[in-house]
Amino acid sequence: MADAGIVNRVDELRRELHYHNHRYYVLDAPIISDQDYDRMLQELRMIEDENPELVRPDSPTHRIGGDPADGFEQVEHRHTMLSLGNVFDDETLEAWYRRVKNLLDGADFTMTCELKIDGLAVSLVYQDGVLARGATRGNGSVGENVTQNLKTIRSIPLTLQGEPPPYLEVRGEVYMPVESFRRLNEERADRGESLFANPRNSGAGTIRQLDPKVTASRNMQVWVYSLNDAGDSNFPDDQWETLAWLRSLGFRINPENRLFHTLEEVKDYYHEWVEKRHDLPYEVDGVVVKVNPFNFQGSLGVVGREPRWATAYKFPAERAVTRLLEIGINVGRTGSLNPYAILEPVIVSGATVQHASLHNEEDIRRKDIRVGDWVTVERAGDVIPQVVGPILDRRAGDEVEFAMPEACPECGTGIVKPEGEAVHRCPNASCPAQFFELLKHFVSRGAMDMDGLGEQWCRILIDQGFVSTVADLYYLEKARLLELDRMGDRLATKIMDNIEASKTRPLPRILFALGITHVGAEVADLLTQRFASLEQLSLASQEDLTEFPGIGPKIAESIYDYFQVEYNLAVIEKLRQAGVKLHHEIEIVQPADLPWHGLSFVVTGALEGMTRREAEGKIKALGGSATSSVTRKTAYLVAGASPGSKLDTANRLGTPVLDEGAFVQLLESPADVMNNVTVEAQA
Ligand code: NAD
Repeated sequence: MADAGIVNRVDELRRELHYHNHRYYVLDAPIISDQDYDRMLQELRMIEDENPELVRPDSPTHRIGGDPADGFEQVEHRHTMLSLGNVFDDETLEAWYRRVKNLLDGADFTMTCELKIDGLAVSLVYQDGVLARGATRGNGSVGENVTQNLKTIRSIPLTLQGEPPPYLEVRGEVYMPVESFRRLNEERADRGESLFANPRNSGAGTIRQLDPKVTASRNMQVWVYSLNDAGDSNFPDDQWETLAWLRSLGFRINPENRLFHTLEEVKDYYHEWVEKRHDLPYEVDGVVVKVNPFNFQGSLGVVGREPRWATAYKFPAERAVTRLLEIGINVGRTGSLNPYAILEPVIVSGATVQHASLHNEEDIRRKDIRVGDWVTVERAGDVIPQVVGPILDRRAGDEVEFAMPEACPECGTGIVKPEGEAVHRCPNASCPAQFFELLKHFVSRGAMDMDGLGEQWCRILIDQGFVSTVADLYYLEKARLLELDRMGDRLATKIMDNIEASKTRPLPRILFALGITHVGAEVADLLTQRFASLEQLSLASQEDLTEFPGIGPKIAESIYDYFQVEYNLAVIEKLRQAGVKLHHEIEIVQPADLPWHGLSFVVTGALEGMTRREAEGKIKALGGSATSSVTRKTAYLVAGASPGSKLDTANRLGTPVLDEGAFVQLLESPADVMNNVTVEAQA
C-alpha cells in the first residue's frame, strides 16, 4: 500500500495536470512551459509504475488531449486519435529501436522519418471523394466538428483527384505559419489583447473558433501524415507508399519526409533538422520515426495512449516560462538605451538563460510586460533570447510597470528621444558606456580590424585611462601596454602592428568604424562612392546627402548631426594627425557632373522589369531626381502599365512620356537621350 504522502502527491499532480491540460487543449492558453508540464507528467508516471494500485483510467497518464469544448458538435472518432511516445536523445532512440526489433523477433524493417509539425491534429473524412467532415483530436475518442473552419484552409482539398475510395479518413496537422503567428501577435499587442505563447496554441485557437471567417483570415495550412481508414478499398501496404498515394489524391504531403533503412540514417536526419529547423516557414518540434510496413505496425500495436511502432524524437525546447526579476538598461555604441530582461535562470534550447532582449520601451508597453511578471522566453537558433510576452493569468497584482530612466544610467546625461524613432538615446558623445561599445566596434573585423584587441582589452584600456577616444589607440606606446597584467611581448607587438596596419584601411571601413547612427557597412560604401574624403562628407548638407540613391532623410540627418558635434570633429582631427588615411584615391564623380543632373522624373504605373523604387534609384544614380507629381518642370514621365491620371497631366502639359522600353534605352545611353529632351523642349 502506498503511504499517505504518495497518495497526496498523486492527487496533487493529477489536479495540476488536469488543470493545465484544460488550459492547453481547451482554452489554448497554457501558463506553464511544456518542460514543466512534462516533468509533472513524468513524475506521476513513475509513481504509478511503482504503485500500480494507484492507477486510474482517467489519470492524465492515460488520457489524450482535452475534452471537446462547448459550442462545437461532438464527433466520435472511428479509430482513436493517439498521442506519441517521446525520446530526447540518441540513447533513448536506440532503446526504442531495440525494443521494436525484439518485438519483431529480430526482423529487419524500414522506417519513415517525418518532421513533427507543431500544430493541431485533425481528422478529415471524405465520402465519394468529397470532404464530409473535419474534426479535432479532442480527447482521442471524441473530438470537435470543425468542418466549416477547415474548409477555409486552401490546402485541404474539398474534392479529391484521381480515384479516391468511397470512404477515406486521413489525419494531418493543421498549423499557423510562423510569419502569420508573429503578425497576429503584433496585432493583438496593438489592441492590448493577451499574446499567444506559440504558433501551436494560436493555430489551435484559430481552428476552434466559432466563426469560420476568423479561421479564413489567418492563413492556416495543413500537412497530411497518415491514412486511417479506406473502408474495404485497396491501398498500399506501408507508410511510405501510402504517403505517395495520398499525394496523388491531392493531399499536401510534406516534401521533407524520408524513408530509411538504418538507425544511423534516422539519427543523421534528426541532427540535420536540429540545425535547419528555422529555415522552415512553420514550426516543427521534432522528428516522428515510424516503422514503415503496416503489418509490422499491426503486430507492434498500441500501449495506453501511444502506438509502439512510432516515436517522436523531440528537438530541445526553445521556449520556457520564467520570472522577470528586473529590467536592466544597456547603453549602445550610438547612445541607444536598450532595455533587457534579467530573468530567473531557466534552461532554453539546452542553455541557461538569464538575460533576454526586450527591444524598446514601446514594445514593453505594447506587450504590457511588467517587472515581476511570469514571461515566455524564446531562444530560437542563433537569435539572442527574447521575451515573447507576459502570462497575464499568472499576475499577482504587485508587478511594476516599466519606466525609461530620464538620465543615462552610465553618465547621468538627460535622455532624448528623437522624433519618429522608437529608441531613447544618451546624447553625450563621450558617455563611457557608449565609448566602450564604440571602441569594440571600431577595432572589430569589418571596421578597423585590430586583431588582438578583444572586448576584455578594450575594457582594460579604458579603465586604465589609456584611451578615452578611438583616436587615442594610435598614440599607444608598446612600453605602456607591457605594464598591463597578462600582456606579453608577443601580444603587445601584434596589437601595435595591427593598429599601424589599420591606418591605411579603405575609406568605407573608417567611415563605418566611426559608428555613426544608421551608417552600416552598406551605407558607408554608398557614401564613399560619392565623397572622396571624410572632410568632404563633413561639409555636405542634408539635401546634398539625400541626392544619393539609398540615402534617406533619416540617414542624412544623422550624418549631418554627427559632423556638427565638436567632440566628433576633434576625434577625426586627431585621427588625421596620427596618420590615419581619411580619403581615398579613386576619382569621385560630383553630382553636377552626372548626366541627368537637374532633370526631374516622375515614374508611374507598373513596370515589368523593375519596381518603381528601383527605377527611381536608377534615376538618382544618374544625377536626376524622382518626384511624385507631374509639373511643368518635369523632364520625363516614365509610364508603365495602367499609368492613371499622371499620364493625362503629362499629355496636357506636353511632358515627354517614356514607356518602359524607351526608359531602359535611356538608362543605357543617358547622355544621348538627354539631347532629346532639349530638342523636344525646344520644339
Ligand atoms: P505531441 O504533440 O507531443 O505528439 C503527438 C502529435 O504529434 C499527434 O497528435 C500529431 O498531431 C502530431 N504530429 C505532427 N506531425 C506528425 C507526423 N508527421 N506524424 C504523426 N503525428 C504527427 O503529443 P500530445 O499528446 O498532443 O501533446 C503533448 C505535448 O503537449 C507535450 O509537449 C506537452 O508538454 C504539451 N502540453 C503542454 C501543456 C502546458 O500546460 N504547457 C499542457 C498539456 C500538454
